[in-house]
Amino acid sequence: MQVNLVEAKTILIKTNLPGSDFVVNPYNGCSFGCVYCYAAQIARWHHPGEKWGTFLDVKVNAPELLEKELLRLEKKLKSKNFGSIFFSSVTDPYLGLESKYELTRKCLLTLADFGYAGKVAIQTKSPLVTRDIDILKRLKDVAIGFTVTTLDDKVSQFLETNAPPVSSRLKALEQLHQSGIPTYAFIGPILPYFVAQPEKFKEILDKLEEVGVTEVWFEHLNLSPLTKFRLYQFLQKESPSLIVFFEKSNTEEYRDRLEKVIQEVMKGRNLRLGLGKVIHHRKLPKKK
Ligand code: SF4
Repeated sequence: MQVNLVEAKTILIKTNLPGSDFVVNPYNGCSFGCVYCYAAQIARWHHPGEKWGTFLDVKVNAPELLEKELLRLEKKLKSKNFGSIFFSSVTDPYLGLESKYELTRKCLLTLADFGYAGKVAIQTKSPLVTRDIDILKRLKDVAIGFTVTTLDDKVSQFLETNAPPVSSRLKALEQLHQSGIPTYAFIGPILPYFVAQPEKFKEILDKLEEVGVTEVWFEHLNLSPLTKFRLYQFLQKESPSLIVFFEKSNTEEYRDRLEKVIQEVMKGRNLRLGLGKVIHHRKLPKKK
C-alpha cells in the first residue's frame, strides 16, 4: 500500500448522494479492496493507472480544515446545522490505518466540539468505529451504518477481500445499539446469486432486527463500465461461472422483480426502508 500524506484544500464537500448534503473523506483510497467498489472509479482521477486498493491519500489536515469550514459556514448561514454530513464516499472512514492516523476520530471530535446540530451519518465495514463510542455519544444526531451484503463470512471475504468479516460487523452493530447509538444497515450492492432471493433477504433482516437495527437501506449493484471491468476480471480468475448471474442482474426487469421481493420481505417488520425506496443509479437496458 502506497501511503501519501497530503494536505487537503477542502474537506466538507457538497454532494448529490441520496440522503446526504455534505461528505467528509479523511482519506482517498481504501485498503478493504471490495471487488464491486464504485469509489474506485472516482478515486482514479487522482491516481490514474494505479490499482484500487494499492494507494491511500491521508489528509493530515482534515480535522483543522473541517473546523475552519464549519466556522465559515456557521457565519454564512447563521446556523450550526447545514444538513446531513456523510462519512465517507471514496473511502471507508474506519479502514485499517485509521487506527494509526485517527483522522475520522478527530473530525468527529471537531463536529462534537463545534456542537454540530445536523445529522452525521457514518458508514463502514469495520468494528473500529466502536473505539469512538465516547465521541459518538456527544453528537446531537448521529447514525452508524454497517454494510451487510451477506451473513456469510466466506462470501464477505471473497468479495470484500480485506474488509473485516461480516460477523464482526454484526457484533459491532449490537454493541453500538447497546450503547444507545442509532444504527442502520446498508444492503448494497445486492449481490446476485449469493443474496438476491427471498430466503436470504429474510435471514439477513431477521439478524439485523436481532442486533437492534431499525433502518435498512438497499442498493442495486451499479455495474458502471469500470466497476464491471474490475468485478468481471476478478470473477473470471476466481469463479467464472458466477459472471452470468451478475450479467443477468443488469436489466430493468431484474431490478423491478427484485424490488417486489424486497417490498414483500420488509412487510410486518420493525424496520424502516432507507429513503423509502431501493437505490439505483443508472438506466438499464430492458432485456438481455
Ligand atoms: S469499503 Fe467501501 S470504499 Fe472501501 S473498497 Fe469497499 S466499497 Fe470501496
